[in-house]
Amino acid sequence: MTDTLPSGAPLRLFNSLTRKLEEFRPIHEGEARVYTCGPTVYNYPHIGNMRAYVFADTLGRVLSFKDYRLTHVINITDVGHLTDDADAGEDKMEKMAAEQAQSIWDVARHYTQAYWADVKALNIRQPAHWSVATDYIPQMIEFAKSIAVKHCYELDSGLYFDTSTVADYGRLARAATEEGEGRIEAVEGKRHAADFAIWRKTPPGEKRQMEWDSPWGRGAPGWHLECSVMSRELLGLPFDIHTGGIDHREIHHPNEIAQNQAITGCGSLDCGEHSGARLWMHNNFLIDRSGKMSKSAGEFLRLQLLIDKGFHPLAYRMLCLQAHYRSELEFSWENLAAALTRLKRMLKVIQVRLSKEHQQTGKPVQAPSLFLPIPLDKREEADVGFVLRLFSEAIGDDLNTPKCLPFIEEILSDPTIDNHRRWHLIATMDEVLGLRLLSLNRADLRIRPKDAQITEAEIEAELDRRQSARAQKDFATSDAVRDALAAKGVEVMDGDPLRWEWTISLD
Ligand code: AMP
Ligand code: ZN
Repeated sequence: MTDTLPSGAPLRLFNSLTRKLEEFRPIHEGEARVYTCGPTVYNYPHIGNMRAYVFADTLGRVLSFKDYRLTHVINITDVGHLTDDADAGEDKMEKMAAEQAQSIWDVARHYTQAYWADVKALNIRQPAHWSVATDYIPQMIEFAKSIAVKHCYELDSGLYFDTSTVADYGRLARAATEEGEGRIEAVEGKRHAADFAIWRKTPPGEKRQMEWDSPWGRGAPGWHLECSVMSRELLGLPFDIHTGGIDHREIHHPNEIAQNQAITGCGSLDCGEHSGARLWMHNNFLIDRSGKMSKSAGEFLRLQLLIDKGFHPLAYRMLCLQAHYRSELEFSWENLAAALTRLKRMLKVIQVRLSKEHQQTGKPVQAPSLFLPIPLDKREEADVGFVLRLFSEAIGDDLNTPKCLPFIEEILSDPTIDNHRRWHLIATMDEVLGLRLLSLNRADLRIRPKDAQITEAEIEAELDRRQSARAQKDFATSDAVRDALAAKGVEVMDGDPLRWEWTISLD
């Protein structure tokens, strides 16, 4: 990387392991290898879960923008994640399959598809690998065998990792390292409260839907094991960046780190790479005061609920980008509506500009995304390079997306930039932010509640009728049409140069 490249401004990221901002230095020249803890597919993801993937996606997009060859892995947890952090809980997948009287494999398939639908709707890029935990059982057993003698002990309930056998256990969580008391409930016979299951034996007389033979008897792997195994298999230890939600900083990731130290024989965490990854990054939580993020509550906040209420899913992406990933973000319908309005405004300016361009040139104006990358001459490159460098500095400052969004707004409204440069800048910045600014149509963002009283075709037909009436200066008919629409919850906004604006009210 050179500093002369627009995208070459430094990239500084917050490392949860050191609690400091650090300059990104790749382990392999020109490459970035990233592992993201993925969903446990026992239920639909809630929108808080999806914040974790919007964050990981933004990180990946920034690394690509900074010219690193990205290898991103996101795993799918279809085994091992228990209902609580103590190893005595039930397997979430087994529990849901029993409740729904379905095969666990069907449950996993259904919720993986649902998660992928959300990924697509939020314009999250496909990672290089979706690694599915149950595809790696033999590797997990091999991993466990390699560390068992030095680092584990066996109890009736399973094989446990002895956290006192690695240096600095729990540093990521800033937990007391001696006993880890109070962190996790003790399973009978555990040497330390923080010790965790690597392999959970099926209790005698029981049968699980998912179980495999192992040197420790029939059973299933512990949840933490899968991420160490799959990241090592697919990215090699150490790799560059490991991500997850902030709750993972407390137990799941310290346990992954302990396993990584054990398998690599590495010592103190003063050398970050001994943890398995050079940087550990965590997004803060989306919080919701109505309590609807709990998956046990009936109607919970999943992306489909937002869509059913008429919101385009990218309004939710905008909501996420408006906050820094390390800040808590409060969800409310009002905040979501404000994010939608911001996105709409951007698209409105784009469409008005494109239509003006069309009037001026007489040429059909393509969606600018079709001519990406837009070639520039030398002078244009220099102008654009200056602006891109400022953008690159802002996004390189620990992914400061809230600081980057105004760049888009300024470029869209600046009368001094010619359209060629403008579309180049917008296309480049949107590649980083992922809002599909140049391929979305403003009409896509209309609020469309699923249970609306009137169809879009009916609205459009009425608006055509209204327009003809106005053209003939028949204002009585025009007003009558507007009032009839209003009675059905459709608000028509006059004064829109593209005659586009109508909204179906939310309730
Ligand atoms: P899970 O499917 O429970 O393993 O969670 C998937 C991801 O969502 C993990 O990275 C969690 O840390 C993250 N997560 C869970 N709840 C929230 C939330 N309210 N806000 C943001 N991220 C969350
Ligand atoms: Zn994980």
